[in-house]
Amino acid sequence: MASEFELIERYFARPGKRALLGIGDDCALVEAAPGMTLAVSTDLLVAGTHFFPHTDATRLGHKTLAVNLSDLAAMGATPRYATLTLSLPQVDEAWLGAFAAGFFALAGEHGVELIGGDTTRGPLTLGVTIMGEVPRGAAIRRSGAWPGDDVWVSGTLGDAALGLAFLRGTKALDESLARMCVERLEAPTPRVALGVRLVGIATAMIDVSDGLGGDLAHLAHASGVTATLRAADLPLSEALVRLASDEALQLALGGGDDYELCFTAPPSLREAVAQAGHVAQTRVTRVGCIDSAARSALAVRLIGADGRELPMAQGFDHFLAGA
Ligand code: ADP
Ligand code: MG
Repeated sequence: MASEFELIERYFARPGKRALLGIGDDCALVEAAPGMTLAVSTDLLVAGTHFFPHTDATRLGHKTLAVNLSDLAAMGATPRYATLTLSLPQVDEAWLGAFAAGFFALAGEHGVELIGGDTTRGPLTLGVTIMGEVPRGAAIRRSGAWPGDDVWVSGTLGDAALGLAFLRGTKALDESLARMCVERLEAPTPRVALGVRLVGIATAMIDVSDGLGGDLAHLAHASGVTATLRAADLPLSEALVRLASDEALQLALGGGDDYELCFTAPPSLREAVAQAGHVAQTRVTRVGCIDSAARSALAVRLIGADGRELPMAQGFDHFLAGA
């Protein structure tokens, strides 16, 4: 049987270009380019909590990296390096090969070098720490939204949550829509190109991983403002449009795993936002506005097509969910 070192050599050691030192020593060595700041983020995927244990390994490799790229995108950072921690119940080389193929296909698309990691035996758990670069002082934080700003969101909302309901057998879907929703769940597209182009345009940004309702509330809290969402303007795919409107709304605002970007920008920059979306080939939709400096605990209000306020769906919280 292959040793840990042979497995790493076989599946994960790839020649890098940018890092001063990659896999093989006690640490990797990296340097930010002059005038750039390193943006660093970590995300952990646990079998049974974040994915079904028998999910296709290539898609798991993709998703493990994609969810981290989404965090970099949300700061406007350009991806550079990643480390990978694997806890594996057994050595399954076919699984490792497929996982690595999915991981490196996405890494290659974004110029990410795998510079280290750790591998251990244990319950199936996949972790990535990602590092990117952003011009000093230019990172787009959650805390920069201003009263009067528009609220925007990329892509469409709720598809992954619908895909999850389909896989759980609680929702029937036509074959092609099911395929689309399950792909959104298992192989999300991180909005890296859009995030980078929003530097200098967006005043605040967050990636939508736990539902737009909750994630926009995080942004609003961090900015000390309240926001209003217009239900009729939320971008929905054909799969959601076909559902009853309150069910679609529930998925779009409370469903997890979208990995879209939610951001704010002043109305004077609407054309610039549209242009950024165009260049990044990513749909961008204006879905609401920032109202005022926060006075109430209610960070986000939802307005229906008839102008009346609707109850807000809550985002997902691992600890609250278990309570
Ligand atoms: P240490 O004993 O210092 O933790 P290891 O023996 O775990 O080092 O790892 C040896 C080298 O292989 C290190 O450079 C480490 O970063 C790298 N490595 C280990 N696991 C992985 C992995 N899953 N992906 C990428 N690199 C890895
Ligand atoms: Mg180790």
